[in-house]
Amino acid sequence: MSAFLTPTLENLTPYTPGDIPRKRSILKLNTNENPYPPPTAVVEAIRAASEDLQLYPDPNCLALRKAAADYYDLDPDQILAGNGSDENLFFALRAFCDSERPLAHADVTYGCYSVWCDLMHIPQHIIPLEKDLTLDPARYHGLNETIVIANPNAPTGLALPPEAIGEIAASNPHHVVIVDEAYVDFGAESCVPLLQEYKNLLVVQTFSKSRQMAGARLGFALGSKELIADLERVRNSMNPYNVNRMTQAAGIASLQCEGYFRETCRQVIETREWTAQELIRRGFTVTDSKANFLYVRTKKMLSRVLFRALRQRAVLVRYFDAPRTEHWLRITVGTKEQMEVLLQKLDNILKED
Ligand SMILES: *Cc1c(COP(=O)(O)O)cnc(C)c1O
Repeated sequence: MSAFLTPTLENLTPYTPGDIPRKRSILKLNTNENPYPPPTAVVEAIRAASEDLQLYPDPNCLALRKAAADYYDLDPDQILAGNGSDENLFFALRAFCDSERPLAHADVTYGCYSVWCDLMHIPQHIIPLEKDLTLDPARYHGLNETIVIANPNAPTGLALPPEAIGEIAASNPHHVVIVDEAYVDFGAESCVPLLQEYKNLLVVQTFSKSRQMAGARLGFALGSKELIADLERVRNSMNPYNVNRMTQAAGIASLQCEGYFRETCRQVIETREWTAQELIRRGFTVTDSKANFLYVRTKKMLSRVLFRALRQRAVLVRYFDAPRTEHWLRITVGTKEQMEVLLQKLDNILKED
């Protein structure tokens, strides 16, 4: 920290991303990336777009937003393209919260919400999950506050049905309800069809998890034209060229690879269910995850110790060292072969102990 940092940021604790190992040989199950490569059409689109690299990208992402409008059956004005959904979520908090307009969110959820609130001096109304880590929608009824809910939630993987989100939106008509659907393609149900009915609903999706594009940084915010215009106002006041030329082209190509998208999602879901059964057979407790990760615990070993033992054996998983999460590990679902390696190492560790 320098002597020049504004005192208002002295106490800010930034988000800690999962480790990024330099060695390829490490089994990386810690940041919920997709285990499959992007479709070749996406790689080709990136290469072709890079030939015009000297030119700025389209600041309005028009071709991409039109492709997305067709895909989601929305109007292009209902879609905002961002540099990952992180950027769209940040724009949303900037637009719909401030020092007098708090953000309500769960105590156990995506860590960035709370970091962005601290960065922008937004008060937080932190609502605990239930004892079994489920989210009780009733706790969000009539709050009269901006709300963000990850659905499925991270790191628990537990999902709410869209009707429950709809009721939350209906009971907070004067505030925006943001639904972060980063993991929705792995078996939960999207709230996009509710956008017709609820003008205060904003759905945020990403290409990072289910579309093999974490390295390209692309996400959409979907909502009423009015909400999207508010986000555009923030975006154009901060970074009008936020989505680069290659990523815009990649996004269009990705939306055209529906078969590959569905098939890879299906494989991840199948591997998740298989791995969950294998873990349960070994005495682990596993939440009913609808995401591309499993949230697990075992009475046989402290999660912190298990996390370190796996890391020593070149397997990275995610451990969140906080009171409500310290007994758990979050494990990204990879290929079946990768999960076999994981199980083998778990067996070795638990046998030795
Ligand atoms: C991964 C993740 C994001 C961020 O996605 P990007 O599009 O890569 O920025 C947002 N929310 C949740 C819950 C996530 O897990």
